[in-house]
Amino acid sequence: MTIHTPAAAFRSPAMPGATPVTVASGDGIGPEIMNAALQMMLAAGARLAVEPIVIGETAYRDGHGSGIPPEAWDSIRRTGLLFKAPITTPQGGGYKSLNVTLRKSLGLFANTRPCLSYAPFVATRHPVMDVVIIRENEEDLYAGIEHRQTDEVVQCLKLVSRPGCEKIVRYAFDYARANGRRKVTCFTKDNIMKMTDGLFRKVFDEVAADYPGIASDHMIIDIGAARLAARPEEFDVVVTLNLYGDILSDIAAEISGSVGLGGSSNIGEHGAMFEAVHGSAPQIAGQGIANPSGLLLSGIMMLVHVGQREVAERLHLAWLKTIEDGIHTPDIFLEGVSARRVGTQAFADAVIDRLGQAPRTLPRPDYAAATAIVPFTPPRRPAADKRLVGIDVFVHAAGTSPEVLAARMQAAASGMLALTMVSNRGVKVWPEGHPQTFLTDHWRCRFEMPAPRQFTKAMVAELLAGLARAGIDFVKTEHLFTFDGVPGYSLGQGQ
Ligand code: NAD
Repeated sequence: MTIHTPAAAFRSPAMPGATPVTVASGDGIGPEIMNAALQMMLAAGARLAVEPIVIGETAYRDGHGSGIPPEAWDSIRRTGLLFKAPITTPQGGGYKSLNVTLRKSLGLFANTRPCLSYAPFVATRHPVMDVVIIRENEEDLYAGIEHRQTDEVVQCLKLVSRPGCEKIVRYAFDYARANGRRKVTCFTKDNIMKMTDGLFRKVFDEVAADYPGIASDHMIIDIGAARLAARPEEFDVVVTLNLYGDILSDIAAEISGSVGLGGSSNIGEHGAMFEAVHGSAPQIAGQGIANPSGLLLSGIMMLVHVGQREVAERLHLAWLKTIEDGIHTPDIFLEGVSARRVGTQAFADAVIDRLGQAPRTLPRPDYAAATAIVPFTPPRRPAADKRLVGIDVFVHAAGTSPEVLAARMQAAASGMLALTMVSNRGVKVWPEGHPQTFLTDHWRCRFEMPAPRQFTKAMVAELLAGLARAGIDFVKTEHLFTFDGVPGYSLGQGQ
């Protein structure tokens, strides 16, 4: 059976106490699963005033480059709450990612994905898995600041801020507390990225001390990810930076069982968005066989967020009972385990029939303290004593050697500053480099001001003027500062 009722069918008449929510039915299987999810939520007693919007493929085709027309923005800004079915990303260039636009515009810094297995009712290699991945959503390599600097080298800036770390880490611990979780594990690569990942870990350790009831530990992301894939039962809540979280949450969702079962929340100071983990599955669109569970579970997270905890719990229990009773859509149907293969609508009807019931063997979710997590506003700290002590000048130079380049740089600087290091792709090549090091056309030349002389910004301009006169092709500079006497820069590998 094909279901194509748009969210407009749920446009609610004024209902006292109802929470206004913007609803996007999306593309592909989106309208079918949104229809089913809303039916189940409203049947469970959700008090929602639905405002339907059209975003995605249609909006892109109508010439809205971000896939979001102005009237959709009006609704999203008004309600601050978006319940979103998956959309199809158009092929070809020129389109901005709708999800990234929403995330950045609404400041949705916290992405939460519960990844559970439902053994023995849904096939999984990991019968005991109940992990929540909390991913920082705005910073890290996703700032999208990239430059080509030489013929051979491009770069991407990894930006990590202390307030950004404080917000996400505190969110993870508050989430753990509100959801009866016992442990928060932090994943970073701070053995290599001592400043960026190091800051994330430092903040994690500071914040963990404020939550004595919740255990905490840290793992290097590579071994941590391997362990998560092999023994997910050892993990509870995982908090990590943007890129790691992006990869990790897909791995965790995949190994837990069906891609159709994952829900997610995106929370910020000025809004929240709830959606399934999966995409618009165009191959099965219109057939009435898509699993609405991922979207429903994100809807249940939304009900908690808007303070309708009892409705969320009632619906969650009925859904678990349906799964336990073997009423399964084709994506999770398994001969010998499942009892009845059903389509999207029949699945929704089965959940509605079970409202008021609870699962017999699947664990009951802990809703005792479940509540919206209020984003933490980090206090601004007093400025540190910041001193300029040197400068890294990045140079484009092909077919040269470290010694020749060092001599040219020193001559051009005319004794004003001391050249202390030349590195190539981060590896020190002067003084005393290794002939085996592969050299590109992109060099970093570090100048430092010997104490007690004071280096000033005016000297930076003078230095660069000298380099320009000498015909040196400098492509970027990074100032070297100390903050309260602590160097705010990394050493070259081998320095
Ligand atoms: P997909 O998640 O849509 O599909 C992957 C596989 O899982 C397919 O075999 C699909 O049939 C199956 N599947 C997914 N959801 C299902 C469900 N609810 N019930 C049953 N089976 C389900 O991923 P894809 O094929 O890589 O992407 C399809 C489109 O979705 C692309 O345009 C992509 O850009 C988009 N997408 C959107 C979002 C989003 O809006 N948040 C997320 C991911 C992908």
